[in-house]
This record gives sequence, C-alpha cells and structure tokens, in this order.
Amino acid sequence: MSGTPNIPQPHNEPVLSYAPGTPERAALKGALGVVGAERPDIPAVVGGKEIRSGDTQNVVSPHCHARVLSTLHQAGQGTIDAAIAAAVEAQRDWAHWRFEDRAAVFLRAADLLAGAYRQRINAATMLGQSKTAFQAEIDSACELIDFLRFNVHYAEQIYREQPQSAPGAWNRMDHRPLEGFVYAITPFNFTAIGGNLPTAPALMGNTVVWKPAHTAALSNWHFYRLLEEAGLPPGVINFLPGDPIAVSRSLLASPHFAGIHFTGSTAVFRSLWKEIGDNLDRYRSYPRIVGETGGKDFVVAHPSADIDALAVALVRGAYEYQGQKCSAASRAYIPDTLWPAVRDRVVAMIEDIRMGDVSDFRNFMGAVIDHRAFARIRDHLEAARTAPGVRIVAGGGADDSVGYFVQPTLLQVDDPGYRTMCEEIFGPVLTAYVYPAARWSETLGLVDRTGPYALTGAVFARDRAALVEADRVLRQAAGNYYVNDKPTGAVVGQQPFGGARASGTNDKAGSVLNLLRWVSPRSIKETLAPPREYRYPFMAEA
Ligand code: NAD
Repeated sequence: MSGTPNIPQPHNEPVLSYAPGTPERAALKGALGVVGAERPDIPAVVGGKEIRSGDTQNVVSPHCHARVLSTLHQAGQGTIDAAIAAAVEAQRDWAHWRFEDRAAVFLRAADLLAGAYRQRINAATMLGQSKTAFQAEIDSACELIDFLRFNVHYAEQIYREQPQSAPGAWNRMDHRPLEGFVYAITPFNFTAIGGNLPTAPALMGNTVVWKPAHTAALSNWHFYRLLEEAGLPPGVINFLPGDPIAVSRSLLASPHFAGIHFTGSTAVFRSLWKEIGDNLDRYRSYPRIVGETGGKDFVVAHPSADIDALAVALVRGAYEYQGQKCSAASRAYIPDTLWPAVRDRVVAMIEDIRMGDVSDFRNFMGAVIDHRAFARIRDHLEAARTAPGVRIVAGGGADDSVGYFVQPTLLQVDDPGYRTMCEEIFGPVLTAYVYPAARWSETLGLVDRTGPYALTGAVFARDRAALVEADRVLRQAAGNYYVNDKPTGAVVGQQPFGGARASGTNDKAGSVLNLLRWVSPRSIKETLAPPREYRYPFMAEA
C-alpha cells in the first residue's frame, strides 16, 4: 500500500448493563454454561506450537473450589528455552512489519472481543477469578478492548513524532522495537492486564514471552486463542504457564532479555529487579523495567464532605471484587464529626451485601482468589480480633468450606499506624481511623507518611480550600488521585493508571508513556547535498 492510513479514532467501549431481560444477560448465562463445562487442557504455546508437558495443575473456581475448570500444563526447561528461541526468531520478521499490519491484528482482536468472544471471556473471568457479571464486563471486555484500540492510537502518535530538518538534510526518527524479547508477567486480578502486558510491547514491534498467573489461566487462555484468530503470527507472543521462579530465572538469564512488563506484588517485583541487576553483565542492552505493583489506597474526608457520597465510595471502593484491586480503598480517615453517620451508612450497606457464587447475578461479591489469599486475610482478621485499640465494626468472618469467602469487613483503629492501615491486605477489609475534625492539616500529613505505597487515593470535601490544601500535601501520595470519587475504576484514555513509591514505575498502562518504554529510537540524518570541501568559509583569506 502507498499512503498514510488514518487510524480509526478510539472510543471507550460501552459497558453493557446485564439487567434482567437484556440480550447480553441471556448470552452471558449461556456462556457460563458452555465455558464451565469445557475443561480445556491448557498448553504452553511456543512458536505457534502447543506443548503439553504432562506436569499439570488444576484451575478451580474460587467460589466453589471443588469445581475444576481446566488443567494447566507447566512449561518444562526445554519449553522455556524454546520460548526464548521462538521470540528471538519471530522478531526478525515482526519487527519489520508495517505499523498498519501490526495494528490491524490488535484492532481485529478488539473487535473479536467486543463481539463473538465477549461473553466467552467474561464467563471465563467470572468462573476462574470470581468476578460478578459487571466486574467481568468492565475488565475482560471493556478495559481490554480499550487497551487494544487506544494503544494503536497512542502508537501512531509516537510514530508521528519526527524531528525538524535543516536545509540540505532530512532528519527522521526510526522508533525501533527493543533488541531482544520482552518478558510479560501478569497478575490474577485483571484479565485486561493479562492481555495488555504482552500486547502493548508486541504492538511496537517487540516479541514477547508471556507468563500468565496460574489462577487467571482460563480467561488468559481464551484471550490467547483470540489473538491467534486475529492473525497474530506464531512466536510473536509465546504463552508460557509455569513455575514463576523457574521461568523467571531462565528468561532473566538470557542475553536476549530486553525488558520486563510486570504487574503484581511489590515483593515479587523487587526480587525480579534484583535478579536483573545481578544479570546485567549478560545483556546486550540495558533492559527496560516496567512494573505496576501494590497499593494501600486511601480515602480522606474533610468535615465538609458529602456523607452519602463518601459512604457509597467507601463501600464500592473497598468491597467490589472482594477488595482485590490494586486501587481498592483500604484505609479511611474520617473526622469525628462525620464518623457516626458515615459508619452507620457503611454498616447498613455491608449488611445488605450478598456474597456467593457469581453465576447468581444477585450477588455483589464473590470469593477471594485462592487458599493463600484466604489464609492471609483471615490472619489479619484474627489478629484484629484481639489487638488492643482495634474494633471490628462490621463483618470479620471467613469461611472456606465451599469457596474462599471473606465477609466485607470494617475495622476501626485508635492507632493510625496499626498494620491494617499500612500493609496491603488485598481483600475486602477497610480500616478507618477517626481523627479530631480540627486536625485536618495534620491528618493530611499522616495520610502522606503512612505506608510505603503511592498508588491511588481519594479526597472528599465540599470546601474548596480544603481540596486545594489536600492537593498540595498529597501530591506524591497517589499516582491516580480522585476528588469526591472512589479511588477505583480508572478508564483507559481517561485516567491513565499507575503509581510511584513502592507502587511501581508509574509508566501508566494504556498511554503513550507506557508504549514509549517499548521503543528504542534511532535518529537518522540524511544529507541531501553532502559537502565536497573540507575547509570552512571562515578559513579563506580576507
Ligand atoms: P503476585 O506478585 O503474586 O503475582 C504476579 C505474577 O508474578 C504472577 O504471574 C505470578 O505467577 C508471578 N510470580 C509470583 N511469584 C514470583 C516470583 N518469585 N518470581 C517471578 N514471578 C512470580 O501478584 P498477584 O497476587 O497475581 O496480584 C496481586 C498484586 O498485584 C497486588 O499486590 C496488587 O496490588 C498488584 N496489582 C497492581 C496493579 C497496578 O497497576 N499497580 C494492578 C493489578 C494488581
């Protein structure tokens, strides 16, 4: 083709309601039956070849852990090595595809997900990760579709970024992919992140080895199949489930390792960064290290806050998807003048919340992801029960007899440094500290200093001067900052997402800033009329 194509303008994918009587509700219920019965035997896919090691793990439903959804083959050493070789080999060709051909693969993937695959992947996310219909829709359908479409749009902006040229020369910028493969390691809690971390570098001409989280393998596998149907060539993204430590050790030791695209916990990211540092002498280039990690996200209310809006933000922010969002509200600072009214409203909503099998659409909450998460959260609740100065205001129970269920819980603490105000719990536990209303300014300092994270945060006030002060004091306390809104629910193209401090490298997934990490620009100067004389004019005799 000759011509500069116009990239389709992206728009956020509309969120379907799944209200009774809607066609999407019927379609999703049908898909839940089909996907739940299939039990796929999920392989590694390397260079387009499916490899089943026979070393399998079961993938189960968190809300019904006796129900096996699929078996997952763990890649052995030979398959891990083959994945590196396949990625390096595939890059020879893929790096030279025209942008519009690469873009078309991902735009087609977005359309497949918006259409034929939507309910299949929503159903897999509901069954495998225990999301409600709505939580699945905003994640595995809308956010992932948005990532795919908006990234193409942002990539075009990067490619259009070209230098000036002086007379007699033509300057160009070649936004090359990195030299080597990108290692994408993805978390369980968002199917959209599972899809975005490998596809964003691939869009920029990189090849990728993708290690999905075992607990999200079902939805991730369906998305991988979708990419194949969209025309992704073999070897461009290699799907490599396996033991995370063994896979990481091999991939990070390869001289072809060029970058890591990680989302998950802070401790794992730090260990990966150290391993990269230890291996630095092996690499051909300095690797790009991109990681979005943990959070301990705050809601701070000024005495002028709207009580009803604040209470709803706390409940939705803390308990949707069982508090398993990196952005979930997990520490609240409420003035004593508002506390009784806020507490009563939150407790009333908690008592109204239904929790259970997400296939029953009346439920607002499902189960937490696995036995490890369940044990971690239950330990926090047991410690809170006997800790001095800690009251369990609502919830506090946990039951793993059928699924990994933890009640939505509200704690009140006298000590704002108590561990549930500082540590990431990653469950449906909100801790409130009630401060004297006159100590607003000191409380803002406390919010900023508490804990190592800086991911999301929200401030509630009707008094504008209070918002101005909070904005200044909390400027470094959150990468995604909300005013009179809950701290969750970032939308691609609207609130690019990521945090600093121990919350990550803040490269803002789904934005031009993230895609810039996956290119290595080459400046090209072409002189149109090269000089033929070495002497300069000033050297001439007067
Ligand atoms: P996790 O760190 O346990 O796992 C993330 C990925 O790393 C998985 O694929 C896992 O298999 C792999 N992994 C685990 N141990 C490893 C090791 N030793 N070496 C290499 N890889 C390893 O995190 P998770 O439980 O899947 O996700 C929850 C965490 O992710 C929370 O801390 C949450 O805040 C964070 N998160 C952050 C964001 C963000 O944008 N900041 C978004 C989603 C989740």
